[in-house]
Amino acid sequence: MANDEPRPVISVAGAKPGPVLFVNAGVHGGEYPAVEAVIRLGKTLDPKKISGTVILMPVLNLPAFRTRTPFVCPIDSVNPNRVFPGDPHGTYSEQMTHALINEFVGHADAYVDLHGGDIPEALVPFVISRAGDNEVAEKSKAIAMAFGLPYVLTVSKPIQPSKGSSSYAAAAEKGVPSILAEAGGVGQMQDDAVALLYRGVINVMHHLGMIAGETPAISAADTASATGKGSAADTAASTLLTRFEWVYTMSAGMWYPKVAAGDAVDEGEQIGTVGDLFGDTVEKVVSPVNGVVLFLTINPSVLENGLLMGIGARPD
Ligand SMILES: [Zn+2]
Repeated sequence: MANDEPRPVISVAGAKPGPVLFVNAGVHGGEYPAVEAVIRLGKTLDPKKISGTVILMPVLNLPAFRTRTPFVCPIDSVNPNRVFPGDPHGTYSEQMTHALINEFVGHADAYVDLHGGDIPEALVPFVISRAGDNEVAEKSKAIAMAFGLPYVLTVSKPIQPSKGSSSYAAAAEKGVPSILAEAGGVGQMQDDAVALLYRGVINVMHHLGMIAGETPAISAADTASATGKGSAADTAASTLLTRFEWVYTMSAGMWYPKVAAGDAVDEGEQIGTVGDLFGDTVEKVVSPVNGVVLFLTINPSVLENGLLMGIGARPD
C-alpha cells in the first residue's frame, strides 16, 4: 500500500464534546446509495449542532468503485468483507481492511459500515450486528435497532467460511460497538435508499446523544420517499431475525427466481429454478428456513455453486 492513493475522508468536529462515530461506505465498489449517503452526510451535518465528532469515508474500495467491480477488489480478487481485521503484510484487500480497522475504527466509540445490494443484487433494507451476551454486542444491537430499517439481523458466526471476518465483527472484537447497514442495489442510485441510510446514521447520532431535536431532511422528496416521517422517534420498530441462510445453486445456467427481495418464505417452499441453455430445468431451489428474502441475485447467469439469495431466519 506504500504507493497507494489516499481515501477521501471528511471529519465533522462538533461544537460540544461527545463520542467519535466513524461511518464508511464502499467496502464493495458498486453499492452506490451507501456511497451517496456518506457524501450527503459530509455536505449537510452542522458542527454547531453536534456533540462529538463524525468521521466519514465515502469509499474504501476505490479500485472496485473505479472499475465497477462487484463483491471483490480487482487488484487481488478478494472480497474485503471476508478478510477483516486484515493483515499489514497480506494482499491489497488485507492491507486495506487492516488500515481501516487500525487507523479509523479502533479510534471510534461506534462504527457504522454502509452497504447495499452489489451490482447483481436486489435487497430489502436491513442491519446486521454481532450476537452475544457481552456489552459490545448489546450496544451494537441497540445501535442496529436505532438505525431504523425494516429488519435487524443478529448473527453469532461468520456467514460464509472465510479467512477473516466482516467489518462489524472485527470492530466488535476490538471492543467497538458496530453495525453493517444495507439499502439499495442493482448498481443504481435509488434516492429512497440514500435517504434511509442517511436517516439511519442521523438516528444513530440521536441514539448516541450526539445530536438533539428534529432529524434534518436531505430533501423534501427524499424524506417523503424514505419513511414519510420527520423525526427519529417516529421510526417504526425493526423486525428481529436471528440467522442468515445463504442459498446456492449446484448447477450453472439460467436462474429463474420465484420470489422477490422482501418476500416471506416457508421452509421447503420452492423459491426458484435453474435451467440449462436448452431450456430444461436442472434444479429446483427450495427455502431451507422460514424467513424473509433479504437479498436476491437478479442476473439470470449463475455459476456452479453460485450465490442465489440470503434469507433472514425468524427466531425459532
Ligand atoms: Zn456490500
